[in-house]
Amino acid sequence: MSRVYNFSAGPAVLPEEVLKEAAEEMLDYQGCGMSVMEMSHRSKMFQQIIDDAEQDLRDLMQIPDNYKVLFLQGGASQQFAAVPMNLMKNGKAGYIITGQWAKKAYQEAKKFGDAVELASSADKTFSYIPDCSDLDIPEDADYVYICQNNTIYGTVFKELPDTKGKTLVADVSSCFLSEPIDVTKYGVIYGGVQKNIGPAGVVIAIIREDLIPDVPPVQNTPTMLAWKTQADAASLYNTPPCYGIYICGKVFKWLKKMGGLEAMKALNEKKAAILYDFLDQSKLFKGTVRKEDRSLMNVPFVTGDADLDAKFVAEAKKAGFENLKGHRTVGGMRASIYNAMPIEGVEKLVAFMKKFEEENA
Ligand SMILES: *Cc1c(COP(=O)(O)O)cnc(C)c1O
Repeated sequence: MSRVYNFSAGPAVLPEEVLKEAAEEMLDYQGCGMSVMEMSHRSKMFQQIIDDAEQDLRDLMQIPDNYKVLFLQGGASQQFAAVPMNLMKNGKAGYIITGQWAKKAYQEAKKFGDAVELASSADKTFSYIPDCSDLDIPEDADYVYICQNNTIYGTVFKELPDTKGKTLVADVSSCFLSEPIDVTKYGVIYGGVQKNIGPAGVVIAIIREDLIPDVPPVQNTPTMLAWKTQADAASLYNTPPCYGIYICGKVFKWLKKMGGLEAMKALNEKKAAILYDFLDQSKLFKGTVRKEDRSLMNVPFVTGDADLDAKFVAEAKKAGFENLKGHRTVGGMRASIYNAMPIEGVEKLVAFMKKFEEENA
């Protein structure tokens, strides 16, 4: 068996330890004679799995008791609709457009109410985070929406926008659990887990209880999209993505063992610095993002020559570095270096880049 260094933006690398454990438990989970894939979501065994997962996540993020933790389906993209459906009491919201995912969320919200663009970095291919210290937020806006880490463009909000008292909603798909955050600063935090936590198929939403309406303000909101439905049923209104939740739970335990989110932050900063320091002195490769706004998770870079980029991606693949091709809208390369990417993976990638630079000078 051999494993590559997988720099995919998502679905992405998972901790090897977690995969091995899951493999060991595949046929017989803790003596029950079946796989987690085969057991009832109403069984005691599964209830324990989802309860433990929720508690471990609460511990890791220090989630206050007045926030619900929901394990949902439909991808992060489905929350683009659920957010306005549940929150647009006044039918208005402000969106900060820092990339394709924020734009998609904004466009979806427009179907349900008046979504207003508060700021955007579209003018420079989303290569920076706009100044959000004094936004012109409508008085009656129900919330302010951000995509906290921009997976495609490699930018991150290092400071949260000043929402002037409005509820902050954040899509954290690609920075979930990469560092500690203060949950109380947000009304809603959500993300698909396939970037930094687990297998595709699970979305985690952390929602302040008072923001979950008894009846969604948008008429005819489907039952499944009303947060109340899943909140009242503790994520078990219908069959949840059982196996995905089980893997997420294992990743939470792995993160605790690694020292929690402070330790992950230190490790992620170290990993990102190895790559950014190299890019800053390289004569061949350069990063595409304004330095202050660089993501710890997604690192786009280019040579400036599309043919050379393609050659790099092909040679890297041969050397065991997978999924380095950049998003089609940015071109070049992108290395996603999520929690589960070992530091050796980044060190070896940089060594490979150095060699490539020498050979192609
Ligand atoms: C990947 C991604 C999405 C889309 O996730 P799906 O689960 O495929 O819907 C949304 N937002 C961000 C920030 C992402 O990285």
